[in-house]
Amino acid sequence: MSNRRSFLHSSLLGSLGIFLTKKAGAVTRGPGDRASHIRGIGEVPGRVPGHPVVISTWDTGLAANKGAWEVLSRNGSALDAVEAGVKVTESSVNCCVGLGANPDRDGYVTLDASIMDHQFNCGSVAFLERIKHPISVARRVMEKTPHVLLVGVGAQQFAIAEGFPLEDGKLSEDAKKSYEQWLKKSEYKPVINIENTKSSAFGAAPSNDWGAAAPARLPNGKWNHDTIGMVAMDASGNLSGSVTTSGMGFKMRGRVGDSPIIGAGMFVDNEVGAVAATGQGEDVIRMCGSHAVVEFMRQGMSPEQACKAAVERIARIKKEKARDIQVAFIALNKKGEHGAYALQKGFSYALKNNNEERMVEVNSLI
Ligand code: ASP
Repeated sequence: MSNRRSFLHSSLLGSLGIFLTKKAGAVTRGPGDRASHIRGIGEVPGRVPGHPVVISTWDTGLAANKGAWEVLSRNGSALDAVEAGVKVTESSVNCCVGLGANPDRDGYVTLDASIMDHQFNCGSVAFLERIKHPISVARRVMEKTPHVLLVGVGAQQFAIAEGFPLEDGKLSEDAKKSYEQWLKKSEYKPVINIENTKSSAFGAAPSNDWGAAAPARLPNGKWNHDTIGMVAMDASGNLSGSVTTSGMGFKMRGRVGDSPIIGAGMFVDNEVGAVAATGQGEDVIRMCGSHAVVEFMRQGMSPEQACKAAVERIARIKKEKARDIQVAFIALNKKGEHGAYALQKGFSYALKNNNEERMVEVNSLI
């Protein structure tokens, strides 16, 4: 792995400056055959991989993977696993995801989530307030409505009708502290997930589209990771994915990121692979990030190569502003191979299968 990593590092394009001069649309092709994909939608292509496997973003993924593994190790479905897995993260008080997360700039925690199975069934919720498990509401949207996405008050109303308790809406202790500190300046500076900078949200840092300082850690010491994305393959070889998030801390009220947008924050094509994204959601949405990664894998790229090609595309779109954002993808293909790639260094993902349970450091473009 480390040889491979150093090879990839040395073969990176020298500097972002050189990279950014490449023509838009020039796609790096990876080795590998071009499989035929003329099977029925959602069919497992006659080959059952040896092991179930689950991967998820950031170190919070370790605990989430354990939750998913309880399902996978009992021969449960990938869909049940990715729901159970990210629910672990949604449940943790004072975490970056779920009701314990940082609020928007008006002081409300608003949540986005999506889930997708091996047959293109998908559901999501956005701008959902006071519901502890948005991922389960997303699953109900998928299973109990003819729709894919419910938002805001309507999503909350649906959740309550489905028996989800309406929580009190109070901020967690950590989020309260962060918000109080943010209120002192009340500057609108939404940036996410740049781990390699030593600066904080409240100190000097690179600027983004909004002229914003890039937060590495929040005042409470937490990394500004607002999201968990998870993809899994079960013992039958079926894939599913889930993402749940509070989005950007101190975001504009009503802002929705990539996580509930099927094809942007997460996508599953059971013939090819499953992908989840994290980082600056706006930039994932504008190039349908997770869908692009699946399509790159369909062309024969490995999961890491496919994630890299998508990150390169974002860098080409963003040009010099690419330095000021973070975006990362994790991917799993039909052979159970996994990989990831990030724009900035510092991203890692959690892996669990029958043989391994560990964090995997991820290569980056910058
Ligand atoms: N992608 C998420 C969003 O933009 C945030 C994150 O990944 O931390 O809402």
